[in-house]
Amino acid sequence: MSLRVALCGNPNVGKTSLFNALTGLRQYTANWAGVTVDIKEGIRNWKGMQITFTDLPGTYSLSSFSLDEKIARDYLLYNTPDILLVVADSLSLKQGLYLFLEAAELDVKIILVVNAIDEAKKSGIHIDRSELSKHLGVPVILTSAVTGEGINELLDSIVKVAADQKKTVRFALKKEIEDEIEEIESSIQSKPELRTFPVRWLSIKYLEGDPDTIKLIGEISSKAGALREEIAREKYKHIDLILKEVMNF
Ligand code: GDP
Ligand code: MG
Ligand code: MG
Repeated sequence: MSLRVALCGNPNVGKTSLFNALTGLRQYTANWAGVTVDIKEGIRNWKGMQITFTDLPGTYSLSSFSLDEKIARDYLLYNTPDILLVVADSLSLKQGLYLFLEAAELDVKIILVVNAIDEAKKSGIHIDRSELSKHLGVPVILTSAVTGEGINELLDSIVKVAADQKKTVRFALKKEIEDEIEEIESSIQSKPELRTFPVRWLSIKYLEGDPDTIKLIGEISSKAGALREEIAREKYKHIDLILKEVMNF
């Protein structure tokens, strides 16, 4: 049995360090269709599974405003992995969760990896991971790519999630935004050529005014870009509430 697992996350959260810890020396450079750069892949055998890991460029969002964002998001759209590891830095969990909420709009299984947990411990920061996992609806693994903490548990979690986790994690924005999303979703669903894309993610990107998305789906409503600030505000509000419950400061 084989599995494809991609690592995404903000810049400098430890994606490549984790990738190295997960794959050791079994690495090579892959050239993907639709992706303009070489991306590193590595293989690890674990409990009867052959797991191929892909180390994606660092991003704060899956928009098409910067080249790194485009590369990461095109990879996820056109070469969708079996499981996506959203890697967050335990010392800047807020930014990491923002990317997580966006990844949750894609139709992909997710594990949240909270890395540099050694640094968090040194700073006296405690993260209640089972509470965080409950809020997000996905497993949360605390890791340190430096000490190796959590690496085996992460591999176990990957095998488990592949077997039984449901794909869609959903969290609701406020009603007015959800209504707009629903409208865009039904316009998108009437276009057969867009059927391969994750519809919620695409609708939200449209409302955020993401250039590539607007190019892709065309002028289906006057709301393109109209909710950019509002959606970000809603997401950060949601994240602040979660952080209050899972973290001591
Ligand atoms: P990337 O940009 O997400 O690929 O991050 P890197 O893997 O390049 O790591 C960025 C920096 O963080 C490097 O200096 C790493 O040594 C350091 N780093 C990565 N993971 C950890 C960790 O778990 N704990 C600590 N203390 N440092 C880490
Ligand atoms: Mg880096
Ligand atoms: Mg890197």
